[in-house]
Amino acid sequence: MKTLFLILSLLLGSYSVATFADTTEHTQASLHYQAYTVPKNGSLSRALSDMNAPILWSYKIAKLKDGKKFINLKAGDTLKFGYDTQGHLKEIRYPKSRSLIYVLEIADNQPQSISKIQKEIERHTITTGGTIKDSLYLSGKKAGLSDRSIMKLADLFSWEIDFIRQLRPGDTFKVIYQQKYIDGQYIGDGDILAAEITTHDGKHHKAFLLTDKQGKKVGYYDEKGHNLRKAFLRNPVDYVRITSRFQPRRYHPVLHKWKAHHGVDYAGPIGTPIHVTGNGKITRRGWSRSYGRVIYVQHGRKYMTVYAHMSRFGKYKKGQWVKQGDIIGYIGMTGWATGPHLHYEFRINGHHVDPLKVKFPDASPVPKKYREQFKKIVRIMDSQLQRIPAKPAAWVEGFE
Ligand SMILES: [Zn+2]
Repeated sequence: MKTLFLILSLLLGSYSVATFADTTEHTQASLHYQAYTVPKNGSLSRALSDMNAPILWSYKIAKLKDGKKFINLKAGDTLKFGYDTQGHLKEIRYPKSRSLIYVLEIADNQPQSISKIQKEIERHTITTGGTIKDSLYLSGKKAGLSDRSIMKLADLFSWEIDFIRQLRPGDTFKVIYQQKYIDGQYIGDGDILAAEITTHDGKHHKAFLLTDKQGKKVGYYDEKGHNLRKAFLRNPVDYVRITSRFQPRRYHPVLHKWKAHHGVDYAGPIGTPIHVTGNGKITRRGWSRSYGRVIYVQHGRKYMTVYAHMSRFGKYKKGQWVKQGDIIGYIGMTGWATGPHLHYEFRINGHHVDPLKVKFPDASPVPKKYREQFKKIVRIMDSQLQRIPAKPAAWVEGFE
């Protein structure tokens, strides 16, 4: 019997039903609700059947305006079945997100219409700051930032600060950000509006968010309007010839077998300077059997470039920061190479992409039409940043 039940529940998937009192969603006080969790491979008709409602309703619901929302249920979604005191089903609520709920009204034992409840997300502007004791993560937590906000903060400055190695105890951070609330309940952190990190070398790294009139993000810029994301050069060498392009598979001339080519080969005389294509940090400088003398450069959090078969390295060592265009080495034929060439790779989040085709991050400065607006933002936000003590969270009264 136990086995049969197990097989049945494996076949059917499991669903759960819970009765609850809901005070936050303005549900109808005269109704009592049962929550139904959509199981794996669940559907509206399955839900109706599980809740002892007519399966045929699903056809009627599909034809209603916004009926599709109820048809395209996903495993883990919750439906809330509302019953009156006689036990008649009066409505089915489908909270699509924390701020949007679809309500299917039922009358005369038939689905009638679907309405939307759109709840306003309130945004509070919060300022906080801290002094780094051990890590940005721990100090950020102490200052009241959510994990996501700490990630965002690290991401903002990832083109210029190495958060793991470069930040030291005593460095400070200040953040102006938003917290989101629905019906007075905190639901998560919103955007970072401005931030500043001061490192032990006395450098102030600042970031300001620019949004357009509709509130859509344009980007993050420093106080001078420079984009915090940095650009890439398309090619790391000048005056050379591309001899092999990026391809998923190719015949390898040395190994004599089919092998993917995850980069671009630039043939040129031994000693031709190789320029790093973007600002970043040398994370590896060494030797590999296949790549020969090779340098890996990390750019921001997402991007990495690789330069292989060098005859010799430039002056920059592992751990050093390089600026776009710096000479990091010279063309050679070390490792598996049939002739002098640079093998160049571009990786995004660890995935190889075609360096000649990849869309680079938008690194343009504040667009002309927003310059005046941005100046104003910097003026207000920067003076606000300067008022934040480098110690944990405080509400700002009357902050606009
Ligand atoms: Zn190659």
